[in-house]
Amino acid sequence: MTGAALESRAGKSRHTLLGLHDVRVHYPMGSDWLGRPKAVAHALNGIDLQVRAGETLGVVGESGCGKSTLAQLLMGLIKPTSGTLDWIYNNPGERSSNVQIVFQDPQSSLDPRLPVWKVITEPLFVQRSAPRRDMRDIAARVASQVGIRTEYMDRFPHQFSGGQRQRIAIARALSSDPDIIVLDEPTSALDISVQAQILNLLAELQRSRNLTYILISHNVSVVRHMADRVAVMYLGQIVELGSASEVLERPRHPYTQLLLEAVPRLGVAVDDAQVSAPTELPGNRNLPTGCFFRDRCPKATAGCEIPQALLPAKGVETGERVRCHLQSG
Ligand code: ADP
Ligand code: MG
Repeated sequence: MTGAALESRAGKSRHTLLGLHDVRVHYPMGSDWLGRPKAVAHALNGIDLQVRAGETLGVVGESGCGKSTLAQLLMGLIKPTSGTLDWIYNNPGERSSNVQIVFQDPQSSLDPRLPVWKVITEPLFVQRSAPRRDMRDIAARVASQVGIRTEYMDRFPHQFSGGQRQRIAIARALSSDPDIIVLDEPTSALDISVQAQILNLLAELQRSRNLTYILISHNVSVVRHMADRVAVMYLGQIVELGSASEVLERPRHPYTQLLLEAVPRLGVAVDDAQVSAPTELPGNRNLPTGCFFRDRCPKATAGCEIPQALLPAKGVETGERVRCHLQSG
């Protein structure tokens, strides 16, 4: 994927499907004799984000920065401690949002006791959104779209290879026609040779069905290959947000710069380079004051002692945002 192709993908005008406004998720940890929490894990600390229909939004950041919490929030599995999620369907009587997920490891995410057609149509059973007698036909149709032969519908997950199991997981995510599919490290558990096939399948499905993806990944080359926009997370905040080309080619936030320096320069689309943390992620039990990154930041100045907002980046007109007073306008 060339920079120009990335730019044109990011530039497509798309309506907003979902807006997150100052979303926080705080987990109480343990409790004292009065039932008060002993500590609080500050998993998300003010997320402002709009998800656009038909885009792939890459989400990157170290382990513990809140990626899975964000995914669970979008899926409706947890509620924000404060802040709001505004779906375009929020009017009463309209359908509620439907977010499905593809996990890293299809071995553990597919129920081993169910035949494939039941695995694929699980979300439809849960939502009761299709008659039972139609389920096999729906499963077969979706299976054929992901390259699983329809005569295998009565087989069980363990009878397939890792790559085929991930195709089945993708079919399951697709079967209920979701608004958003969260891809949580979708290729990290697969052999290198299979990774590209799965990424190509995801890209093809997106084109033909105008799907919206949130792609959580440690692998910068995967994000570069797939994403229109990228959100970089640190300690439960977005520190940089913009087109994939700007964020990955001209990172502005000192954290994004460190994260990308940790990866070798990548000419190829797919490899297994992982972003490793320059140092340890500080605990989120007691949030730092001022800029959350300032203790680790090589560019920190006195101005970093005040909290930083996600503001338009200096010198670009293309909507990039950065949470750093040195880099924002
Ligand atoms: P990531 O997916 O980026 O590794 P997570 O969203 O899993 O990050 O976790 C973010 C922070 O929230 C971590 O400090 C984690 O320990 C904490 N956390 C996540 N889930 C829970 C939970 N159910 N109870 C308490 N703390 C949690
Ligand atoms: Mg996670």
